[in-house]
Amino acid sequence: MTLRNGKEFLMIPGPTNVPDEVLRAMHRPAVDIYEGPLLETTDVCLKGLKALFRTVRQTYIYAANGHGAWDAALTNTLSRGDKVLVLESGRFALGWGEAGGIAGLETEVLAGDWKKAVDPAAVEARLRQDSQGEIKAVLVVQVDTASGAWNDIKAIRKAMDAANHDALLMVDTIASLGCMPFEMDGWGVDVALTGSQKGLMTPPGLSFVAAGPRAVKAHETADLRTNYMDWTFRNGPEHYQKYCGTPPEHLLFGFRAALGLIEAEGLDNVWRRHALMAEATRRAVTVWAEGGALEFNISAPESRSDSVTVVRLNGHDPAALRSFTKEVCGVTIGGTIGALSGQGIRIAHMGHCNGVMVLGTLSAIELGLAKLGIPHKPGGVQAAISYLQDAL
Ligand SMILES: *Cc1c(COP(=O)(O)O)cnc(C)c1O
Repeated sequence: MTLRNGKEFLMIPGPTNVPDEVLRAMHRPAVDIYEGPLLETTDVCLKGLKALFRTVRQTYIYAANGHGAWDAALTNTLSRGDKVLVLESGRFALGWGEAGGIAGLETEVLAGDWKKAVDPAAVEARLRQDSQGEIKAVLVVQVDTASGAWNDIKAIRKAMDAANHDALLMVDTIASLGCMPFEMDGWGVDVALTGSQKGLMTPPGLSFVAAGPRAVKAHETADLRTNYMDWTFRNGPEHYQKYCGTPPEHLLFGFRAALGLIEAEGLDNVWRRHALMAEATRRAVTVWAEGGALEFNISAPESRSDSVTVVRLNGHDPAALRSFTKEVCGVTIGGTIGALSGQGIRIAHMGHCNGVMVLGTLSAIELGLAKLGIPHKPGGVQAAISYLQDAL
């Protein structure tokens, strides 16, 4: 017997649930790329991105996923043989560094622990050793979607300043923009990037980069520049230059609608909603964990992300739990990836997501734990409800 018939929830850390408003905005004929509504849509999207990144600087739109934005950030600002320091806190900064290696950069990984956020003091110590200034950029993710870690970007910037080091600070906000506070200009981030398909509620296929003044300066001498990624060409006067060719029209119409939803809710409220959904999830996991089998992947509570919660099952079968929630209850939760592959679940609470979806997902997980005999203390969902009762 299943309870699957009904609206399905996609509670994985990307792609995420796409609002009907976004889908409807995309359901239209293709339009002229030289004049008409598309040009205004481009302006609205580029401006909306500034509001999201909290920057007054230039923003760029790529017809690419997040990996494309990684390339754009690196190739626009760096030269062959430049060294970049990759701050490990899971899988994603490592992947960005690997992309840099293929592009011709020398990458050094500041080794981290998948159960912890990046330690700003370790960043400071490493940069202090680099008295010759060989490190040209520091690459970090704000939220690592594989480990569930939230990195304190403001503190990392302070550590770089304390070491008196002038490397560019480049931040991947793919799993955090539109979910958790980010202040590109306020925190002194040189390059920020994100993708359309996580907190930003748009189908995969767009990614976005913002370039601060020091990155623009570095761009002048960067020799890794490519035709498609190049900021200089994209700054040109013609509309098609902003996309280096045909704009991804339908995704832009969708993204514009998503920006409208965020604006209507208010970015502060969006952040607050994510904080509430995340804490409700953590309250549930905390109770289940008392039964022995489950454990937060990130040990320190203050380093847990508000967009995704990663839970290890310590030898119990995550695939069976995920298949139960999906096949019987109609909610897809994530499996763990990378070094944590096969060891646990990832519960996403990001983007187009509300109380019903989070409480429903937690209920489906608790039902699954019970049905599958995975040791846990019951009452996690009640703990989530009690928390929300006080917090709302
Ligand atoms: C999802 C994700 C990526 C990869 O994005 P793609 O669109 O799949 O290329 C990179 N970094 C982080 C932090 C992510 O969560």
